[in-house]
Parts: sequence; structure tokens; C-alpha cells
Amino acid sequence: MKHTSTEHILETLRTRGYRITSARRAIVDALETTSSPYTVQDIVARIHTADQVSVYRLFKTLHEEGLLATVPSKGETMYELKGEHHHHIVCTACGHTTHIPCTTTRTFPTPSQHTFHTITDHDVTFYGTCMSCATPTKKGY
Ligand SMILES: [Zn+2]
Ligand SMILES: [Zn+2]
Ligand SMILES: [Zn+2]
Repeated sequence: MKHTSTEHILETLRTRGYRITSARRAIVDALETTSSPYTVQDIVARIHTADQVSVYRLFKTLHEEGLLATVPSKGETMYELKGEHHHHIVCTACGHTTHIPCTTTRTFPTPSQHTFHTITDHDVTFYGTCMSCATPTKKGY
């Protein structure tokens, strides 16, 4: 899924008064190059130049600044950089989450004037079973 580039994110943070450290750059780089939605821990595990607290803080900042979106998930909160409109499918067995393109019509329903004024966006999550959960594996004997 197309999303904002590392430089664009860092530039946005910079113009909003945040200091860009090499640790922050490394974290944003990791977010930019991770294709599946991730938890804070996933990124902590990938980053060796920033501690866990820095990763947590930057996630909070990016989320507050509207650059990072939460993704529907089964367990721990998952995130991804905001970008092109798309949906997600969550494996109900293991919690694995994948992006899927928007397949619903982009023409929004016309809300009844008495119930709702305008519709600006939609959010759809599918649930199912992922390939690895659907494939029986040998149990090691
Ligand atoms: Zn699964
Ligand atoms: Zn996504
Ligand atoms: Zn959609």
C-alpha cells in the first residue's frame, strides 16, 4: 500500500517542532519498510539503535499527529503509516492482519437528512483464516 515516505514524515515532524534524531529516523525508516501492520513490539525488535521507550514515544507522537493509523487486530494494537485508502483482513486464529484493496463502491450512500448529515469515509474489516492457519502442519513427530 502506498503511504507517506520517510522524508515526508520527518519533514512534517520537523515543521511541527519535533527534533529529528538518528533514532527517530531509524524508527520511521523501519515503519516505512515494514509492509504488514505492526505492533510497537515488532518495531522494537527490529530497531537496534533506539530503545523501547523511544519507540513507544514516537508511536504516540505519530499517532497524535495523524501520521500513524491503528489497524483492526485481534490482540495487541497494530499500526501502519497512514496512506492510500484500503481495508484489512484479520485471521481469527492467529491474529495475522493483511491489507486488502477497497472493493466496495466509493460512492457513499446518501444519508437520510433526518439521521445523518454527511458521510466522509468508511472503514471495513474482514475476518477469516490465513494460509498458515488453514494449512495443517506436522507436529514434529
Ligand atoms: Zn492465521
Ligand atoms: Zn493497511
Ligand atoms: Zn474502502
